[in-house]
Amino acid sequence: MRYSKRFCVAPGSKVDLGKVDAGFKDKHETHQDALAEIEAYNQKLHDLQYLMYAEGKRSLLIVLQGRDAAGKDGTINHVLGAMNPQGCSVTGFKVPSREEAAHDFLWRYHQHTPRTGQVAIFNRSHYEDVLVVPVHNLVPKKVWSRRYAHINDFERMLHENGTHILKFYLHIDPEEQLERFKQRIDDPARHWKISDGDYAERPFWDAYTEAFEAALEKCSTRHAPWFIIPSNHKWFRNLAISRIVAETLESLDMKFPEPTVDINEIKKKYHAVVAEEAETGGGKKTRKGKKNRKNKKQVA
Ligand code: AMP
Ligand code: MG
Repeated sequence: MRYSKRFCVAPGSKVDLGKVDAGFKDKHETHQDALAEIEAYNQKLHDLQYLMYAEGKRSLLIVLQGRDAAGKDGTINHVLGAMNPQGCSVTGFKVPSREEAAHDFLWRYHQHTPRTGQVAIFNRSHYEDVLVVPVHNLVPKKVWSRRYAHINDFERMLHENGTHILKFYLHIDPEEQLERFKQRIDDPARHWKISDGDYAERPFWDAYTEAFEAALEKCSTRHAPWFIIPSNHKWFRNLAISRIVAETLESLDMKFPEPTVDINEIKKKYHAVVAEEAETGGGKKTRKGKKNRKNKKQVA
């Protein structure tokens, strides 16, 4: 089954995160076994992003949400690593600044949505305003409870403007989170990532679960679906997300734009020597042939 269907929260359905196995691995037992498939999807992602950039008609917004240490940074490293940085942007959202807090809650997110041809990744997002905000009562319920509808309207507007939206909830269990915090302590290169705040959120685990479930239920739509990604295994998380992004881009049936010039004219005008040599079997024929093959492979 396509992962974009398998892990998708069907619009209008109930979500019980307690029933989702965070350690799910599908058919591969180990990272080693999955390597070839991971590599194949990375290549696909690379080619499709190149096509989207070239086509310049639509854009992709990838939203990443999850608890501390769920792997948002690792996912960005993996997915972005497969793409050409020229066509991508990444924005992380922390506690709003005074300027941000003085505006409507969507203001700071809207400025970072992708322009046509581009992929934008949100590391945390407008969903924080229905996650951390209700969990810690940062604004009255009357205010945050209206935000699901605001979010759905905002995402529909983006979609109608040519932005495809994919939202990933990285699902880990509390034991895995504690283990990851511990690994940070054991590795001096990761000490900088340790924060008191991360531990302080653990007692709110169930309140976050409730808030995530509400967001997943109320805001998974056909045009901006939520996916629940089993994320205890980092390699499976990477594979699943790459695969869903690739499947989605593939389904868009994108096309390279028509050339703006007459290619034959250009060939005749500037490449007459090469063309002639190719016809007569001259020395440069092989080089040209190889180059064409490479280009073809890249965009296949
Ligand atoms: P980190 O991503 O670990 O660097 O932490 C960023 C922190 O900012 C997290 O604790 C988030 O919950 C918090 N944060 C992000 N967006 C908001 C928001 N809209 N309101 C309040 N806190 C937020
Ligand atoms: Mg944190």
